[in-house]
Amino acid sequence: MFEEEIHQTIISGNLFSSGETVAIGASGGKDSTVLAYIMKLLNEKYDYGLNLVLLSVDEGITGYRDDSLETVKRNKEQYSLPLKIVSYQELYNWSMDSIVRQIGMKNNCTFCGVFRRQALDRGANLIKADKICTGHNADDIAETVIMNILRGDIARLRRCTAITTCSDDDGIPRCKPLKYTYEKEIVMYAYFKNLDYFSTECIYSPNAYRGYARAYIKDLEQVRPSSILDIIHSGEVMCIKEETKMPVQTHCERCGYISSNKLCKACILLEGLNKGLPKLGIGKTPKTYRTEGASNSQNLVHVQTVLVRARQKLAPEMVL
Ligand code: SF4
Repeated sequence: MFEEEIHQTIISGNLFSSGETVAIGASGGKDSTVLAYIMKLLNEKYDYGLNLVLLSVDEGITGYRDDSLETVKRNKEQYSLPLKIVSYQELYNWSMDSIVRQIGMKNNCTFCGVFRRQALDRGANLIKADKICTGHNADDIAETVIMNILRGDIARLRRCTAITTCSDDDGIPRCKPLKYTYEKEIVMYAYFKNLDYFSTECIYSPNAYRGYARAYIKDLEQVRPSSILDIIHSGEVMCIKEETKMPVQTHCERCGYISSNKLCKACILLEGLNKGLPKLGIGKTPKTYRTEGASNSQNLVHVQTVLVRARQKLAPEMVL
């Protein structure tokens, strides 16, 4: 059933066409390992006619990514799929270890997230992929919906529930075949199939903000078990007012990557790192979310307070 549901998601969402090269974002974690296994299985069972390639990003995190990449290398042999690895060091001349040495453990995920998104695109370009598919599951998407609502980030709110997103005509489309698959199902499937995956958390993971959204959704699920799919559905049908200003997509003047400003976020962050001013480019929040005179940390506290209050209303005894 698990496999058939994902097949139905792929077919009804028109995710792929025969003959395409599909890069599977592979981190060695449970989601991407299950995704790689299922894509290979369904491609053969239903004759999708896809050319599948594992694509990994090496952020340069000693004791975490080096170990998880060993898992991906084993998956490459186990599933007989080619593997391409791109690293932050070769793309940006910085590893996450060296970035954290410079900026500390605050904002490190901002650098990592911006660089990873671009690295996946660059890797997919190198292998001439037509599509990128990632292992985002239903829980991830519901959390992102809640986070984007609380941040007032309308542009991301609109994109985050789309099963296929493409920020520009010449960008590589990204799709999420596990969009409607619960994290619990993925863990059980990986266990049942005895899949080889890596389950350690990143050593630089603070993840506080997402953690609040996750805890809130877990509470919601106790009073309404369908909450995760309901939130995704709400995100899908949410109407954004016509007059709402959306960022205009153009290309970065420096590296050519898709951007809504003259310079893309990765180039601004890199410039800050190279000049010894790592805070340059950090901390922009959507105007709709920013309150007059409030700093980012004040805004984050505001979001956390909203979530804690929501959880208290839901079940006061659950919140310490
Ligand atoms: Fe990168 Fe942060 Fe994720 Fe670690 S937790 S891999 S630093 S985004």
